[in-house]
Amino acid sequence: MKRFLLLVLICGSWFKPFAQDPVAQRYANQITPQDLKDLLSILASDAMEGRETGKRGQKMAAAFVRANFEDMGLTGPVDGGYFQPVELYTSIPGDIYVKAGQSKFINFESVAYYGSADTGGEVTLPAVFAGKGRKEDFDQVNVDGKAAVVSLGGEADFRSVIALARERKAKMVFVCNPDPNEFKEMLNQFKGFLSGGMLSTKKPEANSQNAGVFFASPDVAAKIFNTTPEKLAKATAEDPAKGALKKLKPSVVTYKTAMAVKVLKTENVLGFLEGTDKKDEIVVITSHYDHIGKKAGGEGDLINNGADDDGSGTVSVLEIAQSFAQAKKDGAGPRRSILFMTVTGEEKGLLGSDYYTQHPVFPLDKTVVDLNIDMVGRRDPEHKDSAPYVYVIGSDKLSTELHKLSEATNKTYTNLIFDYTYNDENHPTNLYKRSDHWNFAKNNIPIIFYFDGIHEDYHQPSDEVGKIEFDLLTKRAQCVFYTAWEIANREQRIVPDKK
Ligand SMILES: [Zn+2]
Repeated sequence: MKRFLLLVLICGSWFKPFAQDPVAQRYANQITPQDLKDLLSILASDAMEGRETGKRGQKMAAAFVRANFEDMGLTGPVDGGYFQPVELYTSIPGDIYVKAGQSKFINFESVAYYGSADTGGEVTLPAVFAGKGRKEDFDQVNVDGKAAVVSLGGEADFRSVIALARERKAKMVFVCNPDPNEFKEMLNQFKGFLSGGMLSTKKPEANSQNAGVFFASPDVAAKIFNTTPEKLAKATAEDPAKGALKKLKPSVVTYKTAMAVKVLKTENVLGFLEGTDKKDEIVVITSHYDHIGKKAGGEGDLINNGADDDGSGTVSVLEIAQSFAQAKKDGAGPRRSILFMTVTGEEKGLLGSDYYTQHPVFPLDKTVVDLNIDMVGRRDPEHKDSAPYVYVIGSDKLSTELHKLSEATNKTYTNLIFDYTYNDENHPTNLYKRSDHWNFAKNNIPIIFYFDGIHEDYHQPSDEVGKIEFDLLTKRAQCVFYTAWEIANREQRIVPDKK
């Protein structure tokens, strides 16, 4: 909170409100609590079955969004249609194991394979121990074309270690947790997360270079190098410059990964409003209409309604679209074009927006901004009694001007408290990369992400319509509307000036 207060003090005087535009206000005021509630009561109803990607409920939700876009007079920009078909691939783990010495380790029993490659048959590689997998460790050994084995606790940042191993051209990476109990816990989590298959926008390639990662217990590493976990721990603890890693004899390891690939058909839903004199420039407003479906088992309510996540963002997109569409009918339409896009597959790894930015309907270099709305109908415990607020993430990352515009627009019209807690790139939740705007930011398109925080009903069947604060939701949706209005109508296009 301190950091946030400081930012307000520093920036407060810079962003002067400007004169209110009564035309913008007329259309912003057409976004109402009752309309949002009417829409959300359908979108987040039990009938939608939690809107899981590829399932019946998601298809029903897609039809609902499309019908609304059509009714309000938006056009379908995908060859005349509103659906952008998205093909996703599920790789379901089959016969997967690791062989080291005389031992065989079965997937989800003593190793966990995280990846989607199918090796066809067994692969045998030279194995090299790379300690804790730091740069100074990799400097001591050569993992090019080999299996790199590292020893990392659950707290460690294994993603960067794996990236480093790939950089050094390791063909396979074994991440061994030195704590057997911690590893057991990890194994259970991996099993829950991976056994149903991972979804991807890319077709898995057999024998691909990026073949994934094996997570393993300390025993597996010891068996690979024909030693004991204790000796490995000792080698890991020593300063790599002293050559402890080199003293371990290189060895070999054998593994097999077999995958059954299934194709899953889903769709992004797009509604387009053509601008006037700057119609080639596109303002994008996004939310994700998918959610996590039904709970696998248990008693009572099993449907994850996703009223807040991200029903709230999706009905906001619909209401904002409705207001812009009405403005256009009245001859007050925006100068730039606006693409309203509710995406699929967010909960499976930002897949719908990933697909869109790989197959954009409008050129990315003409795409001015993405305003992404994901969870805006609730309060988190930190703001239990606060005045209306919203977390604002990413507005200053690529464009100074966008950040200024966002602040000034809010001061002029909506006066929400902008909380920048999660805007800190060092914040452990890493939210800047955790919703669909990230796929736009990756392409150097300025973004703003609007978010209400983490609450106790996050990804639970209790994320229901009854818990939404519709007055607060309305204010936040109006804030996005005004920001879009300013961006779409100003003379100069918002440009990225930072990397
Ligand atoms: Zn979400």
